[in-house]
Amino acid sequence: MNNARFPKVSLGFFPTPIVKLARLGKALGSADIYMKRDDMSGLALGGNKTRKLEYILADALAQNCDTVITAGAVQSNHCRQTAAAAACLNLDCHLLLGGKQPKLLQGNLLLDHLFAAHIHWAGEHRKGEDINDLYEELIAAGKKPYIVPYGGSNQLGVLSFVDAIEELMVQTIDGAFTHIVFASSSGGTHAGLMLGKKVFAQKFTLLGIKIDKQGEDNFAEKIIHLANGAAEMIDMEARFTQDELNLQEQYTGAGYGMVGELEKEAIALTAKTEGILLDPVYTGRAMGGLIDMLRSGAFKRSDKILFWHTGGAPALFDYAQQLSAMGE
Ligand SMILES: *Cc1c(COP(=O)(O)O)cnc(C)c1O
Repeated sequence: MNNARFPKVSLGFFPTPIVKLARLGKALGSADIYMKRDDMSGLALGGNKTRKLEYILADALAQNCDTVITAGAVQSNHCRQTAAAAACLNLDCHLLLGGKQPKLLQGNLLLDHLFAAHIHWAGEHRKGEDINDLYEELIAAGKKPYIVPYGGSNQLGVLSFVDAIEELMVQTIDGAFTHIVFASSSGGTHAGLMLGKKVFAQKFTLLGIKIDKQGEDNFAEKIIHLANGAAEMIDMEARFTQDELNLQEQYTGAGYGMVGELEKEAIALTAKTEGILLDPVYTGRAMGGLIDMLRSGAFKRSDKILFWHTGGAPALFDYAQQLSAMGE
């Protein structure tokens, strides 16, 4: 793979560990489940955006930018990791967050505040719809801003998950995984894992659990577009089609950020069997999907499943009310 011409800035600790979830697997009828701990990527409570930012912010530095802008939901893990990375790279950080200023700074929003990010409230627009206006304002103020795309999902972000597959191959010693299960939301992780699978000729099945219910009508198309754009960027001939995409769309429940029984059970079961924290928005839903698929017989006994933990636990604290009613 020809990715040497894309610089990277070190922001986390890699490789992230892989652990076997023996007790969770037993609770789910002797399933063979492992977890890739990107929640331990090391940057300010971790998460999958750390990988993407290593390429994206290297690009910002190469362009001599002094400010980064990105967007997301109030409890965006991507925004929190971007704010932390900006702090350690001595860049100003502006965040466009959906909704309006809550009374209490909690979870990721509290951390954004500690990283001294400038926060702008965007109302209904949690996906960066107003980012160009902010960009122009900062230019007018004499800044040199750099736009980090929503969720860090552009071709550079995708490339970081090709590297993640290489990292995984080095770590896999006693038999390859048959399935990789993960939360899929802005598409970069999914696209990168797909491309990495092809680059390194891996055989596992990628099972993306779709997180967002609305908004992204062409989500599958977006993932394919990202994967193909990144393939082209690294001079790979191969192109993907939607037939190759395995996106599980049936677990979006009441919508983005809405915690239901599926998420609650997954969070509680993983916590009490493994002492591991999932998050209410992404990994709780993705694990809920995996549990449901296991129960409905979607896997064989011989399958070796890797759950890719993409982070997000800081948001748990903002869901105290919903989650404290757990297990009743
Ligand atoms: C952003 C995020 C995801 C989704 O990754 P995408 O590359 O945006 O699809 C999953 N889990 C967590 C915790 C995240 O913050």
